[in-house]
Amino acid sequence: MRALALMAHPDDAEIFCGGTLIRLQEAGWEVHIASMTPGDCGSMVEGPSEIAGIRRREAAAAAAKIRATYHCLDRRDLRIFYDEPTLQAAVEVVREVQPDVVFTHPPHDYMLDHEMTSKVTRAACFGASAPNFDTGRRPAAASAASIPHLYYASPAGGTNIFGEPGSYSVYVDVSEVIGLKADMLSCHQSQREWLRAQHGMDHYVEEMKRWAAELGGRCGVAYAEGFRQHVGHPYPASDLLAQTLGSFAPAK
Ligand SMILES: [Zn+2]
Repeated sequence: MRALALMAHPDDAEIFCGGTLIRLQEAGWEVHIASMTPGDCGSMVEGPSEIAGIRRREAAAAAAKIRATYHCLDRRDLRIFYDEPTLQAAVEVVREVQPDVVFTHPPHDYMLDHEMTSKVTRAACFGASAPNFDTGRRPAAASAASIPHLYYASPAGGTNIFGEPGSYSVYVDVSEVIGLKADMLSCHQSQREWLRAQHGMDHYVEEMKRWAAELGGRCGVAYAEGFRQHVGHPYPASDLLAQTLGSFAPAK
């Protein structure tokens, strides 16, 4: 079994679904982490190519903590668009990984890079199994066998742009793996100063734990991650995540 987290920036996968990826890896799954960009705008002091190089290494180191493979689709920060090259790159990674489960951002999130990534990933999950969708790669990668199970992670900060809380169809208990999730996130050292300066976030690891504790509080565990499954036709609607890791009732 294979899981792919396809998110906008390096560190998004660790923040929004890192604990779930750890648990799937521990259950014997092959895990892949992909970011649309190498995080080229995530610095107040380094130039784009310098910070991108640093962040690629940080992302690869975080993935290596759980023997996951890191992929970068080489888009650019603040310029992730629903366009042909981006969709082609996303289809190629889905065809390469052939995932059973894909995680991405929710359709509504704090910045448009996340929303575009959500749309592109949704389309790529569909298009990867359509053999006539030619990405231009030669030799062409084999089409995916079927549409993977698609799950949207929580919005940043747990709320959408109107301050409304995210809604989830499944919670994953990450209490036992919160330490390793924090270790993975700590690999993104360059982001501490950036998030403090630009997001007013004092320490991103503590902030991640606070969000996970808030979601845990909704389902009666110490730390959780929440997801909403894409169940519209023709995406698979069986809850493979809950079947694999156990399910908790969504909050009322
Ligand atoms: Zn992001």
